[in-house]
Amino acid sequence: MEKTRFGKTELMVSKAAFGGIPIMRLNKEDAVRLIKETINLGINFIDTAHGYADSEEKIGEGIRGMKREDIIIATKSPADDRKTFNEHLELSLKRLGTDYIDIMQLHNIGSAGKRDKVFASGGAYEGLQEAVKAGKVRFPGFSSHSNELCLETMKTGKFDVVQFPFNFIDDAAAKEIIPLAKEMDLGFIAMKPMGGGKLDNARLSFRYLMQFDSIVPDPGIEKIEEIREITDIISSKCTITEDDKMEIEKLRAEYGGVWCHRCDYCQPCPQGIDISWVLSTESCEKRFTLERFKLMLGQPIERARTCLECGRCKERCPYRLDIPALLKENIKHWEKVTG
Ligand code: SF4
Ligand code: SF4
Repeated sequence: MEKTRFGKTELMVSKAAFGGIPIMRLNKEDAVRLIKETINLGINFIDTAHGYADSEEKIGEGIRGMKREDIIIATKSPADDRKTFNEHLELSLKRLGTDYIDIMQLHNIGSAGKRDKVFASGGAYEGLQEAVKAGKVRFPGFSSHSNELCLETMKTGKFDVVQFPFNFIDDAAAKEIIPLAKEMDLGFIAMKPMGGGKLDNARLSFRYLMQFDSIVPDPGIEKIEEIREITDIISSKCTITEDDKMEIEKLRAEYGGVWCHRCDYCQPCPQGIDISWVLSTESCEKRFTLERFKLMLGQPIERARTCLECGRCKERCPYRLDIPALLKENIKHWEKVTG
């Protein structure tokens, strides 16, 4: 597969990365086979995270015996403080079976509280800087779901790589984030290129994304056919057609604004409900193992049950979502899945 320059990192990465969430659901043997086959297709860029259960270990096993410099590894730490960041980094190195990470991202700088903690004295960013100096990390990055915080964090000039959701139904990044990343020459990883499981048409999704030459999508891959289809679409270099555009508009209209964009404008909630997280119940269920799903959503769902239906969140939501009703729907979905 054709490689592209990944911003100021000067890394040459494949035009799509391998997103490491879905391999959590595979047994080790299948995951390792999938990783090897993916690399054989010309994908040299793998993105995972400390929090994706045994994804890092499986990737480590999948790349064992390969030339380390042929693979670009990106992972993430959700740590707020330096000490926890260092622990996560050491564990990532061990699990991945390597002595350096190409791109280490601070995972989801998505709230002012998180931002203040990671950049405070003794915060995770200090750990990241030290890791770069020590040669354990080549390039610092971060991920976010919040438009404002993402822009603000990019503008600090502290990072070489940014990761943000981007697909044709969640396209806010096209307005300011992607142009700014290009202007600052940052590597941009397009998270959720298929809407986090909402979109099932790879052709449309990737033809849309291919219009943006400075981005690298990282679809979560569970089956070799999925990545084969994506590499075929990218290699064909087909440009988006008028029919594709009409289909995209139709799908956008179908979805309307009726889904959570994880902007967190609805916060704060007097009951401390993590609204955007609870509203992602269905998409999490699709992407994670049942065990992981329960671990991640158990507490937020319990808290969501305490909703007072005060409506404050609803007034603030720019998409006018009926949040109290959606919380109930998601609680119902949780109950159905967890039995
Ligand atoms: S309606 Fe429920 S979720 Fe929304 S602010 Fe009030 S208590 Fe929080
Ligand atoms: S519920 Fe509305 S305001 Fe809250 S995160 Fe989702 S889209 Fe944003």
